[in-house]
Amino acid sequence: AKDEGRNRSVVFDPSMRSALERRIELLRDVRAAITAKEFVLYYQPVVDLASNSVSGFEALMRWDHPEQGVLTPDRFMAAFEDQDLSLKLGDLAFETALKQMRQWLDDGVEFGRVAVNISAAQFRSGRLAQEVQERLARWNVPCDRLTIEVTENVYMGWGSDMVSDTVRQLHQAGVMIALDDFGTGYASLANLRQFPIDRLKIDKSFVQNAEDAAIVKAVITLGSSMGMKVVAEGVEDQDQLEALADYGCDQIQGYHFSRPMPAAMVPGYLLRFGA
Ligand code: C2E
Ligand code: CA
Ligand code: CA
Ligand code: CA
Repeated sequence: AKDEGRNRSVVFDPSMRSALERRIELLRDVRAAITAKEFVLYYQPVVDLASNSVSGFEALMRWDHPEQGVLTPDRFMAAFEDQDLSLKLGDLAFETALKQMRQWLDDGVEFGRVAVNISAAQFRSGRLAQEVQERLARWNVPCDRLTIEVTENVYMGWGSDMVSDTVRQLHQAGVMIALDDFGTGYASLANLRQFPIDRLKIDKSFVQNAEDAAIVKAVITLGSSMGMKVVAEGVEDQDQLEALADYGCDQIQGYHFSRPMPAAMVPGYLLRFGA
């Protein structure tokens, strides 16, 4: 409060200071880890219910930490919130995914599509659409092998004109657009018609909460009637799977099929799934 004394400052609050210090230390460690090539992508299958086949994989970032083991993004979220580092990690994700797709194409691995997550910072230059198309060309990966996942709040939020222009260009080039975490942000139904969206991803918080069944059902009906494929994430058991199939959900992602796995395990997974 203001009347606490004008010579006092919040920077001397010891708990705040350590949070700030920890953040600075983390960002420094992430920077070093990028140089040391400790960031990798794990791949989680997305299964198409009608054909009972793997339609593709979502690429999810992991920090292969030399002492702490493989860390999920919740352990380095601050890096995705930092403008400079989220650009570096975004570059790295694209480059790694494209290189991997090239390898799988060369090896005849039928991976379908790979979905890459995009953060708000990556849209800011206004050049993302060109950059992605240049990269696809450089790795000689067809545009229709790539999906980009944009969260609802990035899509509809700050600078949404730039975001939707970028997304439209990529869509026209044949890149598939997925609206991620649908239902957790502030997209309106009108937005859904306004922007090119090929897929709606229902957030796992809805999928996993039995009380949200009516919401899940409504989203599937809505998405399908607008010509979008609907993907449910966070599907962990057979009951959830059956309910979603009942509602007409198109695709399923979750631990029920597989946790995210290192790239080296993907060919074996596809063989087992096909058998
Ligand atoms: P997301 O894009 O919503 O990704 C789905 C998350 O749900 C992943 O967490 C995945 O491992 C997890 N998941 C999938 N199936 C299940 C399940 O059945 N049960 C449970 N409990 N969880 C499941 P992960 O890999 O920890 O990633 C967390 C978030 O970090 C992602 O959420 C995404 O927002 C962000 N992220 C990950 N990789 C990248 C990246 O390369 N770039 C950007 N910008 N963000 C990324
Ligand atoms: Ca995602
Ligand atoms: Ca999600
Ligand atoms: Ca998310």
